[in-house]
Amino acid sequence: MTIKAYATQSATTPLAPFEIERRAVGPHDVQIDILFCGVCHSDLHQARNEWGNTQYPCVPGHEIVGRVTAVGDHVRKFAVGDVAAVGCMVDSCQHCPACDEGLEQYCENGFTLTYNGNMAGQGENTLGGYSQRIVVTEGFVLKVSHSEDQLAAVAPLLCAGITTYSPLKHWGAGPGKKIGIVGIGGLGHMGVKLAKMLGAHVVAFTTSPGKKEAALALGADEVVVSKNEDEMAAHANSFDMILDTVAASHNLDAFVALLHRDGTLVLVGAPEHPHPSPQVFGLMMGRKSIAGSAIGSIAETQEMLDLCARHNVVSDVEMIGIQDIETAYDRLARGDVRYRFVIDNQTLAA
Ligand code: NAP
Ligand code: ZN
Repeated sequence: MTIKAYATQSATTPLAPFEIERRAVGPHDVQIDILFCGVCHSDLHQARNEWGNTQYPCVPGHEIVGRVTAVGDHVRKFAVGDVAAVGCMVDSCQHCPACDEGLEQYCENGFTLTYNGNMAGQGENTLGGYSQRIVVTEGFVLKVSHSEDQLAAVAPLLCAGITTYSPLKHWGAGPGKKIGIVGIGGLGHMGVKLAKMLGAHVVAFTTSPGKKEAALALGADEVVVSKNEDEMAAHANSFDMILDTVAASHNLDAFVALLHRDGTLVLVGAPEHPHPSPQVFGLMMGRKSIAGSAIGSIAETQEMLDLCARHNVVSDVEMIGIQDIETAYDRLARGDVRYRFVIDNQTLAA
């Protein structure tokens, strides 16, 4: 069936109205009419081909919340009328060691991205949530138990939430742990909320002095302006883990210096240009690590959504109509958003 979407046709053309086809609902498929879609910095990176792998036309969007409007004969978890969500993945091979362990995001044959991805054997360019509807196999659809009036603010949990929750859990964020969150944007503001929810002592690092009060309001115990050397030095050798969400290349040594012995700097930001190489001595002295982490598994995403519903945790959002997407991208590139743009997908009908 043909539906309305917004697509970009090249790295230098703006997003514009575009019609796309969605597949017919197969026996294991869930059809979702999209209510809200968050705007991730990854959408901007890919729309503008900053990672060099974008297939066009590109319909971004991987923070999707909507209502189920059809299900296949074999679908058991969802019924028409349910609220459902889709994140960054819509499929994986289901037979490699990573998939067997329930870690689809590390699928050894490559999971299928919700947009700018390849469907196994079909070679097609998947198209994402800046659209009216999506059809996804049941195993990659999430349940949402937040209240109906929170659904726009739930959408960013599907990427910003899980991408910060997964490493926080993996590296043991919790009571008695000192955790840093670097970059208070879409991912970072969720990192602060989720690290706090898990019981850690949370320090927010920002390049924007104007975000200091706001970061405390998000739940940070302390805020450091990372350009201020004295404020940075006061935290030397003290962190168990620092989660770096910054969308641009920067000096990592300044954060390695703040790790305690055996501490880990976890990179989730995916900048267009590489970070300068860190100093080896900074890592050796204190047996420190630099690691990376990609989104999170379907089971872990469900766990995070359920936990956030119980603790009444959602994203802080600024609603936009799809017609405002280019302005939103320009503001995102300047770091001018508190903290996530979310598209009201009803505006696609206009
Ligand atoms: P965002 O909302 O733009 O936030 C990034 C934050 O980084 C900014 O708010 C800013 O915070 C800080 N920053 C400092 N210097 C910057 C600069 N020169 N340019 C841009 N930001 C700067 O982005 P996001 O949606 O949170 O995404 C962050 C990064 O994570 C992106 O690269 C995205 O592609 C990546 N990502 C990775 C995964 C994964 O699986 N690993 C998943 C999703 C997204 P302050 O003002 O507080 O300094
Ligand atoms: Zn994302």
